[in-house]
Amino acid sequence: MTLEALAALSGAAGLTPGQADHMVENAVGVFGLPLGVAMNFVVNGREVLVPMAIEEPSVVAGASFMAKLARAGGGFQATSSEPQMIAQLQVLDLKDPDEARRRVLDHQAEILAEVDQVDPVIAGLGGGARDLEARVLRETAIGPMLIVHLIVDVRDAMGANAVNTAAERLAPRLEQLTGGRVHLRILSNLADRRLASARCRIPVSTLAFGDYSGERVRDGIIEAWAFAEADPYRAATHNKGILNGVDAVVIATGNDWRAIEAGAHAYAARSGRYTSLSRWSTGSDGGLEGELEMPMALSTVGGATRVHPAARAALELMGVRSARELAEVIVSVGLAQNLAALRALATEGIQRGHMGLHARQVAIAAGATGEMVERVAQRMVEEGLVRIDRARELLEGPSAAAGPRSETKA
Ligand code: NAD
Repeated sequence: MTLEALAALSGAAGLTPGQADHMVENAVGVFGLPLGVAMNFVVNGREVLVPMAIEEPSVVAGASFMAKLARAGGGFQATSSEPQMIAQLQVLDLKDPDEARRRVLDHQAEILAEVDQVDPVIAGLGGGARDLEARVLRETAIGPMLIVHLIVDVRDAMGANAVNTAAERLAPRLEQLTGGRVHLRILSNLADRRLASARCRIPVSTLAFGDYSGERVRDGIIEAWAFAEADPYRAATHNKGILNGVDAVVIATGNDWRAIEAGAHAYAARSGRYTSLSRWSTGSDGGLEGELEMPMALSTVGGATRVHPAARAALELMGVRSARELAEVIVSVGLAQNLAALRALATEGIQRGHMGLHARQVAIAAGATGEMVERVAQRMVEEGLVRIDRARELLEGPSAAAGPRSETKA
């Protein structure tokens, strides 16, 4: 990495208030988050260092540890579809919505040609309009409406601006063709034409630790996944665990994490019932096999990815050359993060590994600085009493190294 990129990642020379002022309205400053680097990731045979911006303890450690287990089975195999985004156009005031739909589809080739040149940069890189879909929504609160989907290959852009512009350009032509009124013209965050998926295989012997055999850990993980697969209350938390990893990299690379979140949850409910985004099973050799598929509307060229110095540096650290490659790394991180949570839940529980890191945050919240953070945190973990009142007591006491006060422990 260049020294400039390293300085941006370290926070010493990240986003300036001046740059922030150009990005949003009424900017008064910049907001920091810890930036960790997850280790051990091998994606499609390539070693990748993964920058993760996240405030929650245990996420970077969990991803790194699971990537190490997956490494024993060859790492992550990831794929991605063409980077196609969907723009929606809502056509209202139609006398005959079915006839309007037919007319739109009859003119498909001409419509696609018309919007293909909306973004000459994307067209020049091999992207552009690809397909047109039209559906009649018969029963809505205001009666029937025609919905037209314009599918655009946006290459390495997230594509929001590109497809929104294309949709706006298309609207007058649709009104002319259908005799209706085009109301909304906006991309869909259910980017189900832009999917990324990852698989991993963990040898069963690698899963064993302490008193837990590899088979017991494997089966416990599959039992935990089956719960999420069947129950939306559990699936929401299961998928949140996946997004812990996904979002951290999405944020570190300056991408739109709300778009990724919206796409993930909508995709998880695509069957009409909200369920797990991942799947875990026993492989033919007895190993644990996992897979994750989700929409990945990511950019390596637009939005904040090029404006935010730390985002640029994060992309440089990862060495990804395209938005698809970035998506393949991020979906692998999501799968690793899912495994970390399931493994902990299925064995010793989530709190044990979490407490050490959580205790540091509690210590800081109580006012600890420097080496006192670690000392107070360690003491609270030893006592099994990780609470802000105890942290304050330890800080105010003669020394954090002094023995615990029995009355507090009680
Ligand atoms: P953008 O418009 O900033 O950049 C994309 C542009 O970069 C392309 O139009 C193209 O001209 C150029 N480009 C250069 N090299 C390219 C390459 N290799 N591949 C593709 N394009 C290349 O970005 P965007 O991705 O269109 O929009 C992203 C922004 O839109 C994000 O900030 C997002 O938050 C925001 N947004 C999101 C939503 C939503 O998710 N619902 C809605 C509106 C806006």
